[in-house]
Amino acid sequence: MTRGLIAWRRNMAETFDVIIIGSGPGGYVCAIRAAQLGFKVACVEKRATLGGTCLNIGCIPSKALLQSSENFHEAAHSFKDHGIEIGEIKLDLARMQARKGEVVAANTKGVEFLFKKNKITWIKGAAKFTGPREIEVEGKAYTAQHIVIATGSDSVPLKGVDVDEKRIVTSTGALELDKVPGHLVVIGGGVIGLELGSVWRRLGAEVTVIEFLDKITPTMDGEISKAFQQSLTKQGFKFKLGHKVSAAKIEGETVALTVEPAKGGEAETVTADIVLLAIGRRAYAGGLNLAAAGVETDERGRVKIDEHFRTNVPGIYAIGDVVAGPMLAHKAEDEGVALAEILAGKAGHVNYGAIPSIIYTWPEVAAVGQTEEELKAAKVAYKIGKFPFTANGRARAMGATEGFVKLLAEKETDRLLGAHIIGPDAGSLIAECVTALEFGASAEDVALICHAHPTLSEAVKEAALAVEGRAIHI
Ligand SMILES: Cc1cc2nc3c(=O)[nH]c(=O)nc-3n(C[C@H](O)[C@H](O)[C@H](O)COP(=O)(O)OP(=O)(O)OC[C@H]3O[C@@H](n4cnc5c(N)ncnc54)[C@H](O)[C@@H]3O)c2cc1C
Repeated sequence: MTRGLIAWRRNMAETFDVIIIGSGPGGYVCAIRAAQLGFKVACVEKRATLGGTCLNIGCIPSKALLQSSENFHEAAHSFKDHGIEIGEIKLDLARMQARKGEVVAANTKGVEFLFKKNKITWIKGAAKFTGPREIEVEGKAYTAQHIVIATGSDSVPLKGVDVDEKRIVTSTGALELDKVPGHLVVIGGGVIGLELGSVWRRLGAEVTVIEFLDKITPTMDGEISKAFQQSLTKQGFKFKLGHKVSAAKIEGETVALTVEPAKGGEAETVTADIVLLAIGRRAYAGGLNLAAAGVETDERGRVKIDEHFRTNVPGIYAIGDVVAGPMLAHKAEDEGVALAEILAGKAGHVNYGAIPSIIYTWPEVAAVGQTEEELKAAKVAYKIGKFPFTANGRARAMGATEGFVKLLAEKETDRLLGAHIIGPDAGSLIAECVTALEFGASAEDVALICHAHPTLSEAVKEAALAVEGRAIHI
């Protein structure tokens, strides 16, 4: 483009204070906070609805199906225990999927409402950079003082396994199945594979998880990961650890997978009705034409940023899954808020040491801070406090006694360094531990707080007492 043409385009371009590319939890939250702080804000989204991966094909639809399938499983297996007879249980999968759609729509429309309320302009279409401060959407030019890249992530592909989203699916296809598969093979023993594997297992599928490493959820505290695998095995999951899939061939109604030991050895064939490829997610900046702006990415395609979310190009920032760090909606949201505040001259900040992670299976698994393995590697002396849900009155009343709370505290100072929970409602229980970590609490601080009885949260207090070997109820 000639200099004259560039200047002309800039003059013709619609101008905002802040333009955010992508309306996932990173982008839409950043947009709202920036608008609250007085900026004139636009958010570009190419999808037909707002909310990104999280609201459309991620967190929300997966949790809707997890809840429905848990209810189905409860009705079939636990109601009798409670003295409730309901006769034959039948699955109406079409209704279950329709309900999921309603939940998603309520959330995406909610974001649309929030955009209107905060006077945020939704620019519909795919954005691409045409220069350092300019983007183009559907042939129209836009400029802004600040441009935020929040384009998220997509599934990591696997050589030899071609996704058609019908027989060989990613999480997106696995959320849309219209029939319970006879045999679902999940490639990858991570969070997404195990959550969606749980959905279809509860609805009646045989589920086999093939994982390259010798354990599932490898970044999790080792003891919890082991207990989690045992629990899933009891539920009927089959695990093929230390194995890799090297080829997948669709043969009519089934898929033939070639599976080999990760360390080498004889291959075998595993037949599946549906294959879920869930080996991870990778940063996505496709079609953005980052080169036109001169924005640098790292070896994994993530946009490079400094501690204030600044890319190498002045005025361009990035947040969420498209940058380094845990690929979690709440991490993206917190970065969105912090960035908006920094742009407004405030002190936006994210504490990456206190970001909780949760697996919404049954039992739930939740963690914050460091694992035992990390503390050992860092040569930090620590104490452990553990408390099982079998000794918690509320868990007994619920009939949900599986799992335990495990707290890790620094040996010398008693400061809480990590919390790991497997058990009922672990995802809510972890919030207290996140607060404790944020405030630099000691295990004793948590132990001295009055916890209501009978609640599951008493297990957290007891684990904190157990750090000094003085739990009451065990
Ligand atoms: C099945 C599944 C379940 C998950 N469950 C959880 C969970 O329970 N909890 C949790 O914390 N996280 C969960 N996640 C992860 C979570 O969804 C992501 O961490 C989160 O969505 C990242 O937010 P983001 O704003 O960075 O990007 P995204 O949510 O990916 O949003 C990016 C948006 O940018 C848009 N976009 C991309 N390029 C352009 C362009 N050029 N122009 C215009 N628009 C563009 C995309 O269409 C998309 O809407 C899950 C993910 C999946 C797949």
